[in-house]
Amino acid sequence: TVITSDIDALSREVQKFAEIKQQQITNLNQRENYRREFLGNVSHELKTPLFTVQGYLLTLADGAIDDKNISKKYLKRANKGVERLIAIVKDLDLISKLESADLSLNKEPFNILELIQGVFELLEMKAKKRNISLHFNKHYVYPIMVIGDVEKIEQVITNLLVNSIKYGKKGGTTMVSVEKIINNKVLIKVIDNGEGIKKEHQARLFERFYRVDQSRSREQGGSGLGLSIVKHIIEAHNEQIFVKSEYGKGSEFSFTLEKLKEF
Ligand code: ADP
Repeated sequence: TVITSDIDALSREVQKFAEIKQQQITNLNQRENYRREFLGNVSHELKTPLFTVQGYLLTLADGAIDDKNISKKYLKRANKGVERLIAIVKDLDLISKLESADLSLNKEPFNILELIQGVFELLEMKAKKRNISLHFNKHYVYPIMVIGDVEKIEQVITNLLVNSIKYGKKGGTTMVSVEKIINNKVLIKVIDNGEGIKKEHQARLFERFYRVDQSRSREQGGSGLGLSIVKHIIEAHNEQIFVKSEYGKGSEFSFTLEKLKEF
């Protein structure tokens, strides 16, 4: 009986070992598929603006350059393509840093109201171009001190506001609010009355390169990485991000941050 139970124990160990190995292989395969898909997406994203730039340059070289007005127009369009390439590469760079294991957050206390006000000022022109008015609904008197990586949280607010301007209704409104909630947290909301997002898309919005409408996103200069960057940053802070949206009515993106106790 001693030997039988030893063999039983040994065979359980072997079984457990085999299961762990199988799981490791599955994980590796998943990661490999993910990597392949990502590379495919990246090259596809880069191809479109590259071909645009090439098209304009070739047309110029074929003779369009002799007409001053046309060459000016084509050079401007080629430059738009280059700007898109730069935006994509910048976002890719950011995402690769965020995904590397050594993402170090530079956490410090800062006034969230001041930060939002600063982003508003930077985006004022962009909002004006689409005739969108930006409102900041401050429920509280200055300041609200939170703890986080200022630069990265600024990126989050910028990305959410830029989206609300891009996908907001022309002549519409974007509203940002900061609310204190339980457990020393604040909830920051970015609300627009734009096109909204159908339920079936909402769960996938935070995936890299996921867009509801490819051509609309590209035409607006989007890399398709904005919300995945936002999610990464919020999760690195161990905080949460939410989306509520009604198709045709508008969207609300919100996230939590840790508040300094005395504020
Ligand atoms: P993009 O560069 O395409 O804007 P994002 O990751 O920032 O990439 O957003 C992903 C997609 O989510 C967008 O292409 C758009 O379809 C949708 N989306 C994001 N924000 C909004 C919003 N405020 N209103 C409507 N749709 C939005």
